[in-house]
Amino acid sequence: MHTRSDYPEDDWLALSGLQHFAFCRRQWALIHIEQQWQDNYLTTAGSLEHNRAHDYGESETRGNLLIMRDLRVFSRRLGITGACDVVEFRQSDVGVPLRGRDGTWIPYPVEYKHGASKQTDADRLQLCAEAMCLEEMLACTIPEGALFYQQTKHRERVCLDNALRNQIVTMTSEMHELFSRGHTPKAKPSKSCMACSLRDICLPKLAKTRSARQFIEEAIHEESAIEKKDCI
Ligand code: SF4
Repeated sequence: MHTRSDYPEDDWLALSGLQHFAFCRRQWALIHIEQQWQDNYLTTAGSLEHNRAHDYGESETRGNLLIMRDLRVFSRRLGITGACDVVEFRQSDVGVPLRGRDGTWIPYPVEYKHGASKQTDADRLQLCAEAMCLEEMLACTIPEGALFYQQTKHRERVCLDNALRNQIVTMTSEMHELFSRGHTPKAKPSKSCMACSLRDICLPKLAKTRSARQFIEEAIHEESAIEKKDCI
């Protein structure tokens, strides 16, 4: 695996793919390399609620707080691009200038999520990647952001520490390597498969119980048995 300082724009990958990649590398490859997609309850409900974060318009000012929604971000260093649900900018003397705005501002990303807080780092990783994009674009440091969970209406503060940042660097490097080779990792059945929107395409049980050759031989056998039955 290699790291590089800058990716050309044509090679940028979807920032939202980090969540898929953290969930299962094969799922990410099926969606982002092979362009397969299937909605299940979790992804449909997630995207409906997610859309609500983008329903209010582009920006809003409340006192010394500027709220921007659906803010496009990118990082040349990580080679990713996407959108932040919400970025709150608080006016402060130690902030950074924003184009078209007076004063200086401290950015604070907030990501809206379906359901409740999860055990895995997937949501925190996505938020951290957004913050790293903002840091690169605005030449600033963002030590914290928040996740807002629609089901519990709970706002969780997230410390954007080095452990999360290092994971992002490693994951994006791995994603670029797989993408450039067009390689989809093999299925590794796990409990995640039960909630996976691509289970029917991936067929994880196949990987666990039978080889592809066994599967094809069984399919041919079943088909010839049906043909014989039809002739009777
Ligand atoms: S079914 Fe399991 S192995 Fe296949 S893509 Fe989904 S999580 Fe990954």
